[in-house]
Amino acid sequence: MTENPVHLVAVIGAGPAGLFAARALAAQGARVVLLNRDVKPGGLAEYGIFLNKYKMKGGLRRQFQKILSDPLVTYLGHVRISNGGDLTVRDLAGMGFDALVYAIGAQGTKYLGVDGERLPGVYHAKDLVYHYNRLPPFSERPFPMGRRVAIVGVGNVMVDIANYCAHFADCDEIVAIARRGPFEKAYDDREFEDVEDAFDRALYREEIERIRLRLEAAGQNPDELLAALAAKPETSPRARARLRFRFLASPKRVVAEGGRVVGLEVEENRLERKGDRVTAVGTGETSIVRADTVVFAVGDRVDEHAGLPYKDGLYLTVPGEDPAAAYQVLDPAAGKAQPGVFVVGWARRASDGVVGRARLDAETGIKHVAGYLAGRPKRPRGEAERAVESLRRTLAERGATVVDYAAVQRLEAAEKARAAANKVEEFKFASDREMLDAIRS
Ligand SMILES: Cc1cc2nc3c(=O)[nH]c(=O)nc-3n(C[C@H](O)[C@H](O)[C@H](O)COP(=O)(O)OP(=O)(O)OC[C@H]3O[C@@H](n4cnc5c(N)ncnc54)[C@H](O)[C@@H]3O)c2cc1C
Repeated sequence: MTENPVHLVAVIGAGPAGLFAARALAAQGARVVLLNRDVKPGGLAEYGIFLNKYKMKGGLRRQFQKILSDPLVTYLGHVRISNGGDLTVRDLAGMGFDALVYAIGAQGTKYLGVDGERLPGVYHAKDLVYHYNRLPPFSERPFPMGRRVAIVGVGNVMVDIANYCAHFADCDEIVAIARRGPFEKAYDDREFEDVEDAFDRALYREEIERIRLRLEAAGQNPDELLAALAAKPETSPRARARLRFRFLASPKRVVAEGGRVVGLEVEENRLERKGDRVTAVGTGETSIVRADTVVFAVGDRVDEHAGLPYKDGLYLTVPGEDPAAAYQVLDPAAGKAQPGVFVVGWARRASDGVVGRARLDAETGIKHVAGYLAGRPKRPRGEAERAVESLRRTLAERGATVVDYAAVQRLEAAEKARAAANKVEEFKFASDREMLDAIRS
C-alpha cells in the first residue's frame, strides 16, 4: 500500500454511474468506499438490461470487475442508505468523508394518476423488469401475466416488456399505447428488432389508416411510415404473440370487473405543433382497449425516501448556470450547495439514457467533485483505512450483513457452477437469503 495522502470519498450506489464514478475517483488517487443497496453490483446493468443480452451484460461485468478489484475501491454491498436504512444520509454526512457522491438511480415509481393504477394485474415496468432479472425482493413475488397485455409507453423499456411478453411469458396479444403518434416513438429501431417477429404489420397499417387524417392535420405524412414498413424485411414469427400499436391514446382508467383487469380506457388525442414540438391534445372521445394486464413503461422517478432533498420526482440540485451546480445537492434551507455532496447518473436525471450516458454523466460529475476536493486537505492513507474499518464496524453494530467484493466473487462462482450444472447460460439466486447462504458456504 502506498502511503500517499488521499481524499476519502463515499459513492452511494454501484450501478454503472456509481461504478464509473468510483473508477474516475480512484484514477485521481482518491480512496473510495462504494455502498450499494443490492448484494451484487451493477444496478440496472445487472437487473435492467434484458435477460438474454448475455454478451452486453458480460462485457459490462468485466469492466465492473476491474473497477472493483482496484485496491483503492472498497465495495460494501447489501447496505441501504435511506430513512430507515442501514445508514441515513445524515449519518453519512457526519462520518468525515471528503465528498459524498449519490448514484442511487431512479428507484421511485412514476404514477400517472390514472384510476386503477394500483390494481392487481397492473405493473410498473421497473418492478416487472426487476422481477424477470431476479432482483430481490421483486424476484420473490409472482408477477402473473395475462394473455392480453397493454403496455403504456413507446420507449426502449416498452420493447423489453414486449419482448418478455412475446418470448418469455405466455401472451397472445401485446398492445403498445402511445399518447402521440408513430413519428414521436421513443424506442430505437435497433432495439425493436428483438420483437420484429411478433410485430403485426397488417394491424400497423390499419392503425396508420385509422389515424391518417390526424397525422396529416399535424403536417405528417403517413405514407412515409407505410413505405418504411414495406422496405423492412419480414421476420418469421418465433412466438404466438402479436404486437400492435395504439397511437394517439392517453390512458384514463384501468377497467376492472370483480377486481380483475379487463381493459384500459383511453382518450383519443389529436396532435398539435408547438414550434418544433408535437404535443397530444385530448379530444374527449374515449374507448376501451381490452387487456387483462397493464404495464406502465413511462419512466421512473428518484426515491423520495432516500433522505436527499426532493421535489417532483428529482433530487434538488443547485440552480444556476455554473456547470458544476447541476451535480451539487442543494441545501434548501440555506439556498446553496451542501458542501461536498454530489449526485450523478439516473439519480440526477431519472430514466435518462443508456449505460454509456450514465458513465458520461458520472465522469462529468467527478470532474466537479475533483474541483471541490482540490480545495481540501488530504489525509494519510492509514487514516483513511481506519475510517473505512470504522464504517464497517458501525454497519456490523447496526446489524447489517455487509457483502464485500470477495464475497460477491464467491457468489458469482456459485451461480456459474449452478448455471453449468443446469446447462443454462445464466443462473441467479432469487433471494438475498439464498445469496448470503451461497456466499457463506
Ligand atoms: C428496463 C431497462 C433496460 C435497459 N436496457 C439497457 C440496455 O440494453 N443497454 C444500455 O446501455 N442501457 C440500458 N438501460 C439503461 C441503463 O440500465 C441505465 O442507463 C443505467 O443503469 C443507469 O445507471 P445508474 O447507476 O445511474 O442507476 P442504476 O443502474 O439504477 O443503479 C443504481 C444503484 O444504486 C443502488 N441503490 C439504490 N438505492 C440505494 C440506496 N438507498 N442506498 C444504497 N444504494 C442504493 C442500487 O442497488 C443500484 O446498484 C436499461 C434500463 C432499463 C430500466
